[in-house]
Amino acid sequence: MPERKALQLQLPADAPPGSVTAIFSTFDVLDKQRDIVKRAAFAGLDGAAVPLVQSHEWDAMPVGLGHIHVTPHAALFDGRFHLATQFSRDAYETAKAMAGLQEYSYGFKVAEDGFKEDTAADGGPVRVITEIERVYEVSLVLVGAGEGTRTVALKHAADLAAEWTTAYINNLPDSAFAYIEPGGEKDGEGKTVPRSLRHFPHHDAGGSLDLAHLRNALARAPQSPFGAKAMPHLERHARGAGVGEHALGDLVRLKRGMRLSAATRAELETAITVLQALLGDTAPEPEADGLAGSPPAEERAQLAAEWAALRRRYPLGGD
Ligand SMILES: [Zn+2]
Repeated sequence: MPERKALQLQLPADAPPGSVTAIFSTFDVLDKQRDIVKRAAFAGLDGAAVPLVQSHEWDAMPVGLGHIHVTPHAALFDGRFHLATQFSRDAYETAKAMAGLQEYSYGFKVAEDGFKEDTAADGGPVRVITEIERVYEVSLVLVGAGEGTRTVALKHAADLAAEWTTAYINNLPDSAFAYIEPGGEKDGEGKTVPRSLRHFPHHDAGGSLDLAHLRNALARAPQSPFGAKAMPHLERHARGAGVGEHALGDLVRLKRGMRLSAATRAELETAITVLQALLGDTAPEPEADGLAGSPPAEERAQLAAEWAALRRRYPLGGD
C-alpha cells in the first residue's frame, strides 16, 4: 500500500486568498483504476494551464484556475480558487475544512500509443501510461482514483516540498536525518536498519539541505516524541538558512498552550536560542553540510549566564 504522507504546510501571510497547491497524480503507483502513471507521461505538461472544477462536472462553473507543476514523484496543481462566485468560495472553504482529507483527480487524454498493457506485481492487468496529451481539468473529489492525492498547502509552489517516496527516503544516507534512534544496526551501505529508527529527513540524496523538508520537519517536530532530540539540529539549519524564524515562537506557544505577550515571547525566544546553543555544544553532530559549529567558550559562558538569569526569572517547570 502506498504511504499517505501528511504534508501540512501553512499558508504564508502574503499568499493571495484562495491559493491552493494540491497533488492530483502520483507517479509509479498502481491506482484504483489499475493505472500506473509514469513521470514521463507529464513530460510536455509542466506549466500547462488547467481549470479547477468540482467532481469532474464539466457543465458546472469552474471554481479556480492554475498550472500543472511536475515534480519527481507527483504532478501538482498550483493555482487558486477564483472566489468570484459563491460556488467557488464554497468550494474553497470546503477544501480548507477538509484539509488533508480532500482528494483530487483529473480528466485527461492519453496520447495515441501513450500507454502499454502490462501485468502488475499482484498478477492483475495494469495500464502503464507513458504520455498524456492533455489535462482538461483538475477536480476536487471525495475519493480520487489516484493514490495519495491531497491538498499539500494553500500557498505558492515556490517552496513546496518535492515529494519524497518511501523508497527515496529509505535510500538516503543516515546523514540526511535529524535524529536516529539508538538500537539499530548498519547495513552494507552504512545506513541504519530498521529504517524506521531514522527521523526527519531534510537533506536530499546529494546531501543538499532541502528547505521544504526542513520546514516540514520543523512543523512536525513539536508533536513528535523525538522532537526534542531533532530540534537542535533542525534549528541550526533554520538559523543558517534564514527560515522558520517564527518556529521558535510557535514552539513556545504549542508547548505552553497559551498566548504570550510580545515581550515575554521575545525573552523566551532568546532563552531558547541560548539553550540551543548550549545543547549544540553537549550534543556535537557531524558538520557535513558546512554549518557553523558551536560557539566559542567565552560566548558559551556568556550564554550560560544569560540562560541562568532567564531561568530564574521564568521558572519553566520540569518535564
Ligand atoms: Zn542536517
